[in-house]
Amino acid sequence: MAVAELAALIRERQPCVVLTGAGISTESGIPDFRSATGIWAEVDPFEVASIQAFRRDPERVWRFYRQRIDLLRQAEPNAGHLALAELEARGFVRAVVTQNIDTLHSRAGSKEVVEVHGSIRSAQCLECLWSEPAEKVLAQLEERPAPLCPHCHAVLKPGVVLFGELLPAAAMERAVELARSSALVLVVGSSLEVWPVAGLPLEAPAFAIVNRGPTALDEQAILSVDAGAGETLSALVAALS
Ligand code: NAD
Repeated sequence: MAVAELAALIRERQPCVVLTGAGISTESGIPDFRSATGIWAEVDPFEVASIQAFRRDPERVWRFYRQRIDLLRQAEPNAGHLALAELEARGFVRAVVTQNIDTLHSRAGSKEVVEVHGSIRSAQCLECLWSEPAEKVLAQLEERPAPLCPHCHAVLKPGVVLFGELLPAAAMERAVELARSSALVLVVGSSLEVWPVAGLPLEAPAFAIVNRGPTALDEQAILSVDAGAGETLSALVAALS
């Protein structure tokens, strides 16, 4: 029944913008962050994924991210990613704003994707702002513990937003603009605990949530569906057919 309600909301409230978090990628074998089996149950994010850790010990940060990039590049889009690409192709979804760095939305065929936490596509030089593609970064990591900028030789930083860093301004502005001009934000697989992205649904006139387990904004959502992303979004595509 929840899926029928969700389908009706999406038909009535156009344009619809989707906001995704780590929960949409768990069915691709990528652990999320804050659940009991999440990444931060294993390692301390401030030791391996903060800008302070990068400045103190970039090699440690790269040991963590090298493994992560390998895992994410091997993962394949799942039913949830494919369903969102299909909903965009059919005109039901205007854009996907994602907190994920795994690039699986684009690989699934979504065209309008806003990556507010960066991605694994490249690494950045904080000195001269050069952007080095992932393939070249991985080739360097075969030779040395942390990749270097080919221009100024500073240590490159993973192209993802680390704890303690600001979000990319252009992506965040676009995300806010999309949320404000939408009639509905559909949140999928996010605990909505990490700000400022968690505030995006509040910029829209209404929002609905599909998430396994509670989120920080359940009480303000017009509909909250506690279920898996893949099965729910596949059923949604069928209901909108
Ligand atoms: P999260 O782990 O906080 O929440 C994921 C939610 O998805 C959980 O509530 C979980 O129960 C749910 N879930 C898991 N599998 C599901 C499924 N199959 N279907 C439906 N729901 C499912 O992740 P989040 O909300 O994305 O927020 C955390 C964000 O913090 C991340 O996106 C990450 O980018 C970000 N962050 C990471 C770093 C970093 O790694 N360097 C830095 C800053 C911020």
